[in-house]
Amino acid sequence: MRAVVFEEHGDRDVLQVQEKPVPEPGPGEVLVLVEASGVNFIDVYQRTGTYQMRLPSALGSEGAGTVLSYGAGVEGLSPGDRVAWTGILGSHAEQAVVPAERLVPVPEGISTEQAAAAMLQGLTAHYLTHDSYPVRAGDTVLVHAAAGGVGRLLTRIVTHLGGRVVATAGTPAKREIALADGAVRAVAYDQALQAVKEVSEGVAAAYDGVGKDTFDISLAALRPRGAMVLFGAASGKVPPFDPLRLMAGSYTLTRPTLGHFIAKRHELLERADTLFGWMADGVVTVDVSGKYGLDAVQDAYADLEGRRSTGKLLVIP
Ligand code: NDP
Repeated sequence: MRAVVFEEHGDRDVLQVQEKPVPEPGPGEVLVLVEASGVNFIDVYQRTGTYQMRLPSALGSEGAGTVLSYGAGVEGLSPGDRVAWTGILGSHAEQAVVPAERLVPVPEGISTEQAAAAMLQGLTAHYLTHDSYPVRAGDTVLVHAAAGGVGRLLTRIVTHLGGRVVATAGTPAKREIALADGAVRAVAYDQALQAVKEVSEGVAAAYDGVGKDTFDISLAALRPRGAMVLFGAASGKVPPFDPLRLMAGSYTLTRPTLGHFIAKRHELLERADTLFGWMADGVVTVDVSGKYGLDAVQDAYADLEGRRSTGKLLVIP
């Protein structure tokens, strides 16, 4: 079977497609035919060495497909069942082995591609709006990169919960997408503070996955006791930070990551159930803006890192 690997950290050209033996599912594991895998920033951090990996390394963290076979002790699954997962390295491959306890059944009415596209960014948008800062009706929040994968879902979910979104995005076309998703304002990054002032006395939370370039804007946009939710670094890592700065508004700062919010199986299933329910009801739509074969995997990351994508990019092995 074919799989994406990298033998050293570096730019996109370190990514190769190699022929590998079909993996054997061990006890508690499931062999899945991968129908789609998601393109995410975590893959970029892993490839470049921002997150150091054991080399050579596989790539791809989420996907969906059908069960082919399984090892001892796996119950409740049959060959042909549709399943989705996130947090499993090696998802950019024709086949992948996934622990049964990390698999989520894909319900009727949700396509396998939609499920692959929803898992990582959708579950992230869920925990950010329900746990990192639980949005209440009437809250105004700031969402950066609002036309991106997580950003679009955040805007939809916050709006569904009765909150109001001030959105930032890099181009007029992307700002139109944010408005169509429900944002009350959508502006360029350098206009964010002005836009926040026009509609509120500061935001209850800033959802910031851009990092280095937006951190100061996010902090300045908060109302007293507001929540700074730094969840990514698309523009680079935020430099060391003096906690005394939080005293300006008794702010809270959190730097969450998805793994801690789906570590327990019941949490994974409950969040996925809510997410798939929202997708079925049209509360959120997962918009796939690009699909790439395994051989075009470098192009997929060129589009993600080059800010050319909106919504989700998928690899179709
Ligand atoms: P996006 O689809 O949002 O793509 C990133 C967007 O960030 C770009 O389209 C661009 O939008 C904006 N951006 C601003 N500055 C830069 C820059 N210098 N280089 C590249 N992009 C830039 O990606 P995702 O939805 O996949 O991820 C968004 C963020 O969320 C990432 O930081 C990711 O690591 C993080 N994340 C965190 C998780 C967690 O649990 N902590 C889980 C999932 C994702 P524009 O052109 O509009 O500026």
